[in-house]
Amino acid sequence: MSDAATGVGLDAMVARVGSIAGRIRVAALRADRDPAAVTIVGVSKTFPREALDAAYAAGIRVFAESRVQEAKEKLAMPLPDDASVHLIGQLQTNKVKPAIALFDVIESVDRANLVDALAREAAKQEQVVDVLLQVNVAREAQKSGCDPDDAPILLDEIVASGTLRCLGLMTIAPLVKDPQDARATFKDLRLLQEELRQRHPDAPLDILSMGMSNDFEVAVEEGATHVRIGRAIFGSRG
Ligand SMILES: *Cc1c(COP(=O)(O)O)cnc(C)c1O
Repeated sequence: MSDAATGVGLDAMVARVGSIAGRIRVAALRADRDPAAVTIVGVSKTFPREALDAAYAAGIRVFAESRVQEAKEKLAMPLPDDASVHLIGQLQTNKVKPAIALFDVIESVDRANLVDALAREAAKQEQVVDVLLQVNVAREAQKSGCDPDDAPILLDEIVASGTLRCLGLMTIAPLVKDPQDARATFKDLRLLQEELRQRHPDAPLDILSMGMSNDFEVAVEEGATHVRIGRAIFGSRG
């Protein structure tokens, strides 16, 4: 497989994944957490299918894509059975059907009409669909994710649907130079998780999807169960 096809060659990718796993381990131990409780999600958006195969060979088992159509093309040939793919980009309500077919977890659920559309399609297909509630913790303008104050009501709707299962929360921290400046956002997502757990003790809510290439160690220290890593695995997106 050529480097041109993958962005990063297989040997380099093995080294990169190993290095990220090592940094997760150190960050987890620093926070008295079990490193095995943190999953690396390989964010393969914009990279070709060959890059997913190389990342799989390097040990990545959970992938994330931003767009339904792009994922559909890349997954025309299914990944091995032990791999799963999450949707992390904004989802239009008219694309819920292909999204449910393609993705194992939809991380970007952030508004009532999307909850509705997903719940209806899941019911139609007699399927339970796993989702995360995406929260705009820092209340940044133009950023997707629900307002933290709306999270309880959205979770109520997900739970009431009976066809959607909320596995936890997702956030994108503000873009900051010093990753320490993202810490408050990660901490707030964890506090929100605790609050929502009290409201819905029977909902699974175990996942905290937070942290990216530039800030994942801080996220792990603050309780991330899933870190979404793109550039640090696949290389720059140009
Ligand atoms: C692109 C993207 C990532 C990965 O970002 P990197 O900086 O490449 O690690 C993570 N989460 C979301 C929602 C993204 O869109």
